[in-house]
Amino acid sequence: MDNYTPVIGLEIHVELKTKSKMFCRCKNDPFFAGKPNIYTCPVCLGLPGALPVPNRKAVEWTILLGLALGCTINENSKFDRKHYFYPDLPKGYQISQYDQPLAIEGSLGRIRIRRVHLEEDTGKLIHSIIDGKAVTLVDFNRSGVPLVEIVTEPDIMSGEEAKIFLKNLQQIVRYLGISDADMEKGSMRLEPNISVRAISSQQSAASQKLPDYKVEVKNINSFNFVKRAIEYEVARHVEVLKQGKTPAQETRGWNETKGITVAQRTKEEAADYRYFPEPDIPPMKWGKSQITNLKSQIGELPDEKKTRFMKGYELNEYDASIITETKEKAEYFEEAAKVNGQVTPKTIANWMINRNIDINEVLPVQLIERIIKAKQVTAVSDDELEKVIMQVISENQKA
Ligand code: ADP
Ligand code: MG
Ligand code: ZN
Repeated sequence: MDNYTPVIGLEIHVELKTKSKMFCRCKNDPFFAGKPNIYTCPVCLGLPGALPVPNRKAVEWTILLGLALGCTINENSKFDRKHYFYPDLPKGYQISQYDQPLAIEGSLGRIRIRRVHLEEDTGKLIHSIIDGKAVTLVDFNRSGVPLVEIVTEPDIMSGEEAKIFLKNLQQIVRYLGISDADMEKGSMRLEPNISVRAISSQQSAASQKLPDYKVEVKNINSFNFVKRAIEYEVARHVEVLKQGKTPAQETRGWNETKGITVAQRTKEEAADYRYFPEPDIPPMKWGKSQITNLKSQIGELPDEKKTRFMKGYELNEYDASIITETKEKAEYFEEAAKVNGQVTPKTIANWMINRNIDINEVLPVQLIERIIKAKQVTAVSDDELEKVIMQVISENQKA
């Protein structure tokens, strides 16, 4: 009997929310620009002779993310040119990082992170019809927006695990305050790579190697769709493998309405991007003290906060994870917990969770006032309440 194990690796792109773009001073706000091509200059339009100057904040934020993911920061890092031809890429190459990414070899939970690197986003193509003719328009507001790519090792074993990983990653990125990581705005973009390993019962676990094909699914804009696309692919691969064949190595797209993936293109033998070092940007060198300094800026990450809340405020795991879902919520909770010793943190947590308190509208002090007021009216513990209920029941057996 053969045994099938899904093998999944993720490539995630995150747009950094720096004030200006990656290599020029243009405003970095493509989603809210309102009009196309208003945040452009010779650099991000790729005009000849324009010189890129790296955005220091973007580099530091990429390092912050690398550190938060337990990566090693490459002391020597550089930018490279990645060449390909497409109308949304005016220079004919993308400034990216090839063999010396800013961060390498980290992990999030049991999933290993292969690399975290910095590059620039492309422009956006808009397919439209003008005067009855199908046309493609280009908007360069997004061209040159700082873009971080996070690549995992193929350690993920199910759609559900991929979804959990992505949620955790999004939470970390948001805690760091480096991106909205919002899929609807395109500031977080997801690409799962999927294959299925067939292990015959004769094989030992040690001899398991990666399948010699993989399928990449593009254009997925929600965690649930990633999960479903993975599940769809795994089932499809198992069917092919059962027939003794190998699934084709290809790029597929996710069809949201049908809930299926569709073949887009068969991957050419390792596309030749003709990478070479970006000659217009000097290589970077990061000293130990600079890294230590950045590390000290990270602050408490979601997991640490959750553990501290469970211990320090005696919250259960469920409550602690809801309260620490966002940094803002967690700070609100701690603020409220400081206000008045009479109200226990547990009560505050319950109020925030069950009454769905809008932390942007109700101040922590006001929340405490509400709780105290409500308590005067219904000042009974659960035990007392239960006694009353039992008494009423016993006095009204018939009912
Ligand atoms: P490429 O050169 O095609 O981009 P990489 O080796 O750089 O391929 O890997 C890209 C992503 O695909 C990574 O997230 C990696 O973990 C994942 N990956 C690699 N091999 C496999 C495989 N056999 N099955 C599933 N995912 C894989
Ligand atoms: Mg790739
Ligand atoms: Zn510009």
